[in-house]
Amino acid sequence: MLNGLLSNCIFCRIGNGDVRSDKVYEDEEFFAFKDINPQSPVHVVVIPKKHISDLSVASDGDKVMLGCIQLLIAKIAKQFSELNNGFRVVSNCGYDAGQTVFHMHYHLLGGRIFAWPPG
Ligand code: AMP
Ligand code: ZN
Repeated sequence: MLNGLLSNCIFCRIGNGDVRSDKVYEDEEFFAFKDINPQSPVHVVVIPKKHISDLSVASDGDKVMLGCIQLLIAKIAKQFSELNNGFRVVSNCGYDAGQTVFHMHYHLLGGRIFAWPPG
């Protein structure tokens, strides 16, 4: 691992600009981009640039990052008028939850009515 990045991790590579994406937001710590396979009219993936595989391995040292990323999601949501009436934030954690990319991320979804419970 170099500077907290994994060369074989697609989201590390998106975050450092090696792989192209439809960027929605970037700062030193975070990157957000449109999901390549959107599940709703608005579907944005928000990642920390630092590699962490999923929420289950987060530690006390990640408290600030975890708070900041949620506030960032709320800020990004304001960029999309489709989300004015609500949105859903999802972080799939592990195989049973359907996680397919093992770099922790949050899905910001909206622009349609969602069912509950989720599938
Ligand atoms: P998850 O299944 O929760 O791990 O979410 C991974 C998400 O990343 C899926 O919704 C994929 O469609 C999305 N994804 C995978 N590769 C890319 C990519 N290169 N650009 C944008 N989104 C991607
Ligand atoms: Zn990664």
